[in-house]
Amino acid sequence: MSPVWVQSSDTTPSLSFSSNSTNQQTNKLLRSDIHTVTKNPSPFSPTMQTGYSNGYGGGHTHSRRRSHRAAPGGVYRVCSSSLSSPSTAPSTPTTTSYGNSNHVDTETAVASMWEGYDEAYFQSYANVGIHQEMIKDRVRTDTYKAAIMHHQNLISGKVVMDVGCGTGILSIFCAQAGASRVYAIEASDIAIQANEIVKENDLSDRITVIHSRVEEVEIEEKVDVIISEWMGYALLYETMLPSVLYARDKWLKPGGLILPSHAMLYMAPVTNSERYHETIDFWRNVYGIDMSALIPLAKQCAFEEPVTETISGENVLTWPFMVKYIDCYTTTARELESITARYKLSAIMSAPLHGFAFWFEVEFNGPITISSNNDTGFPFQHGTNNGSNHRKRRQKDTVVLSTAPEETPTHWQQTILYFYEPIEVRQDQIIEGSITLSQSKENHRFMNVHLEYSTGGRSFVKESVMR
Ligand code: SAH
Repeated sequence: MSPVWVQSSDTTPSLSFSSNSTNQQTNKLLRSDIHTVTKNPSPFSPTMQTGYSNGYGGGHTHSRRRSHRAAPGGVYRVCSSSLSSPSTAPSTPTTTSYGNSNHVDTETAVASMWEGYDEAYFQSYANVGIHQEMIKDRVRTDTYKAAIMHHQNLISGKVVMDVGCGTGILSIFCAQAGASRVYAIEASDIAIQANEIVKENDLSDRITVIHSRVEEVEIEEKVDVIISEWMGYALLYETMLPSVLYARDKWLKPGGLILPSHAMLYMAPVTNSERYHETIDFWRNVYGIDMSALIPLAKQCAFEEPVTETISGENVLTWPFMVKYIDCYTTTARELESITARYKLSAIMSAPLHGFAFWFEVEFNGPITISSNNDTGFPFQHGTNNGSNHRKRRQKDTVVLSTAPEETPTHWQQTILYFYEPIEVRQDQIIEGSITLSQSKENHRFMNVHLEYSTGGRSFVKESVMR
């Protein structure tokens, strides 16, 4: 069968979505005793959009991105256009830098531009709303707390590094679990408040807040434990894991603990007629008026890019496919730059196929060295596991944070890539193809999605960018 590419969307300029509000945070607190790595003034001030999300359900057309953690009505943590539009993104190599890279000799324009984008990225985390949303996500925060308590024997009396401490909540949990010292590293200005929180909770003798990118930090000792909450939408959006891997390679003692230790990215074809009808078919009859001329635009606005929404297990059309298995003890940043997997799935019911959903799980397992055999410690084989749909065996007491559709919703929800046209599939019909997720060359925080899918004798490709 020769493939016929009948649907291709793409790389055309996307529509820009308007914001509900803009807000530039001003920070009046003094940086008296916080450990700050100096940075140069920013050459540009990204527009920040703020919003408060809750409930995680009913996300709509343009709610997206963990780095702009979505709010109802689709307000982002950072305006996507502020990261992508030429008017606000740095257009030329800049001298912006963090820490000891004050001297930027513009090795490449791209590297320098990325720094500018990082400035916007960290500005987004200076907003309290983002942290409130993460902390209010009980599945997330309770699971981290449970994982810390589960590994208390490896934390008590030990030195911990919290990569991206935000408000400092995980650092404080670690101190409560008995850590003798916690280096709480945070690049955004929320570090200032984290330091206040640490002081007011009388933990300054054990928690050291360092206001810096982790890549610029210098401390006087290696650490026993690295903890971080680095996961973005569809796991890899936001590209924070490489910072954790950097910290691992530079600061973790051999045999040290990494929390979380393993991550699994899943995808599955989904059906969601309700969503399609309310977004697209809605225009066919509006107060008795035929507005279907808006349908192509509605499809583009709603379905050109991946969206963040909560779906349920009932929307899922096949068994999930594991796109990528990441062992945080061994994986490299390079391995994450581009991920490709081939899949072949069988529909478990007859239904219209509307798109593909992505979600993830992370596990909190101990380090390799404490495992004397497969029953007591590290339960997984190593390996890239690209495309393998067989999960490694999971220990029954493993602490797991799941963002799967059948689980309690989290602020990550699920990431859905909708098609412009649904495809009818019958029970047992094969849906197969390949998926490639790669860091955007435009901005390493963005993710390119290239999805190929064939079913019922027809083949398609959908290209998209998570910005
Ligand atoms: N640990 C907090 C916040 C998690 S959000 C919590 O669990 O609530 C991720 C945080 O990591 C953000 O505050 C972000 O600014 C920070 N971060 C991301 N990359 C970083 C880096 N390279 N160095 C330091 N902080 C970083």
